[in-house]
Amino acid sequence: MNPAAHKSAGVRAKMAAEQLRCCRLCPRRCGVDRTKGETGFCGVDDSVRCFREMLFYDEEVGLNPSHQVYFAGCNLRCEFCAVAEWNEYPQQAAGIDINDLAQKIAERISEGAINLNLLGGEPAVNIYGILQLLARLDPSICVIWNSNMYYSESVGELLYGLADIYLADFKCGNDKCSEALLGAKDYVGVVKQNICQANAHGEVIVRHFVMPGHIECCLKPILHWLKTDAPGVRLSLRADYVPPAGAIRAPRDYACQKDMKIAVDLARQLGLNLINERQTVQTQAR
Ligand code: SF4
Repeated sequence: MNPAAHKSAGVRAKMAAEQLRCCRLCPRRCGVDRTKGETGFCGVDDSVRCFREMLFYDEEVGLNPSHQVYFAGCNLRCEFCAVAEWNEYPQQAAGIDINDLAQKIAERISEGAINLNLLGGEPAVNIYGILQLLARLDPSICVIWNSNMYYSESVGELLYGLADIYLADFKCGNDKCSEALLGAKDYVGVVKQNICQANAHGEVIVRHFVMPGHIECCLKPILHWLKTDAPGVRLSLRADYVPPAGAIRAPRDYACQKDMKIAVDLARQLGLNLINERQTVQTQAR
């Protein structure tokens, strides 16, 4: 964290609290008063709920071991979500004491974590609690904002200087697919804007899970956009998309070697900063 930004984290938490009174923290713009217990699309009020924290050894290259802290509640509805029960019903997750969580983070650092990895769910819908948390931490901790990047500009502003690395999931490359697979038809434009905003203030790793049947419509537009609008960012192409049981709109198969070869070849051809090419090939070879 930038030390000056860290000093203002408490003030920023108060600013975020004000925004909860008529919540427009993300493009859903629900307008509910979360301080009165009202909830909008994400289902999160003004409490902070986590459903998992762990040391993780299989994060992107250079980020391991990583202390993952999962916040409940999300503003997307991905059919292939691996933690849907916590995203759709965040009130089922235990409320946390911010001081206890700060203590746990210090313990994980002493156990070897080289960063704090904020994810969910979606951290943006929990920005109020996260800012309170960051205000209590040692500013030397490296903070990863592990996000779907579907949030309002004000969230990006509240984060300036506090997030060291933005681990940005770019899931779909067009609005038709994003509406069908994620439940958000304005997703692509919002994510592009937020990746550009993040790129101006910190390191960005764009992560894309290659999905069978979505090479032309999603993979290719995303890679071409990176080339023109965010050429310096690091790119992680992942082969570990997991088809959901009983998939309706989501792909029903795993990505195959041919899909991954197309993805890697195009990334190379465009001169993108692919960080996990070898790992991607090894995953496919297993
Ligand atoms: S953060 Fe939640 S309540 Fe606020 S606008 Fe987004 S979905 Fe609605």
